[in-house]
Amino acid sequence: MFDPNDLLRPHLKQLVPYSSARDDYKGSEGIFLDANENPLGSITEDNWNRYPDPYQYALKTRLAEIKAVSPDQIFLGNGSDEPIDLLFRAFCEPQKDKVIINPPTYGMYKVSADINNVQVKEVLLTNQYDLDIQELLSIIEPDTKLIWICSPNNPTGNDVSLEKIEIVLKAFKGIVVVDEAYIDFAKRPSFIHRLREFPNLVVLQTMSKAWGLASLRLGMAFASPEIVGILNKIKPPYNLSGLTQKTVIGALNNLEKKDQMVAQILANREILKTELEKLPIVKRVYRSDANFFLVKINEAREVYLKLIDQQVILRDRSKVVLCEEGIRITIGTQEENKKLIEELKKLSN
Ligand SMILES: *Cc1c(COP(=O)(O)O)cnc(C)c1O
Repeated sequence: MFDPNDLLRPHLKQLVPYSSARDDYKGSEGIFLDANENPLGSITEDNWNRYPDPYQYALKTRLAEIKAVSPDQIFLGNGSDEPIDLLFRAFCEPQKDKVIINPPTYGMYKVSADINNVQVKEVLLTNQYDLDIQELLSIIEPDTKLIWICSPNNPTGNDVSLEKIEIVLKAFKGIVVVDEAYIDFAKRPSFIHRLREFPNLVVLQTMSKAWGLASLRLGMAFASPEIVGILNKIKPPYNLSGLTQKTVIGALNNLEKKDQMVAQILANREILKTELEKLPIVKRVYRSDANFFLVKINEAREVYLKLIDQQVILRDRSKVVLCEEGIRITIGTQEENKKLIEELKKLSN
């Protein structure tokens, strides 16, 4: 039986987590003289003088209904960056344990590993930007703790094959993190519905993309209650601000708006693809299951810099492995996309 406590860093097994007086009293009415807060209120119009709920109970209850999971399968963090960091801190002994990533992929896994002084083994994606499953399985060692799979993948835009992710989940004795930051734009169902089938699965999602809440910083990790319990134990106690919790609870009553925005972005995606493919300087527009395209362009770096002069800012990925001449383009509004195409046309001449 898989038990994440077997993977936990030894010193954390004895960890006594931070506790506050509110652990002993759950009510909202009372005279609160336990946390050195300001009893008079705040300097802002709204009052934020009380510490927020450390376990975000109300928000998780609502989110659990929407996502069809149990609240104890949800961890919420200050952006996805926080659960990414906490997974390293929980399971990877610096200078000893290892993780595997599949470049070209999201940069934060490597940065977070470097910050935590954890060795990263890289298995390049195939030319089709799919998992190189044979190579991946062959480099797993006893001290390999985490495998990071980003799908739909950033910066390539495609979903990697579901069957291959399943093979990794079944074969690997450590934790498989599937980062679904762009799942709302993809056709496949999320892996969050399969948490019971795979006790070693962590699914990352975020409110930064489809939900349009990048500035609020809300990342979600879905996993077994045991893994969620470990992350809760080592997180900063008040990692999600009261403003974020309150705003998002309100936003969850407005899910149709997210669906409408996603539909519009998907429609714009198709138009933009057609327009990009008409341009002579565009060599290839890769299939996207996300809200951006990886595009191969002649003289990518020069084009990127010239567009900046026109205040059109793309993401230069031309120096990234397997992305030579690659530029990542986020799907904008129709007007923004039109302006982009106009500027690219000028550069084609
Ligand atoms: C944008 C993105 C995220 C989101 O990060 P936040 O910290 O939640 O804003 C996570 N993973 C990938 C692959 C992304 O591209």
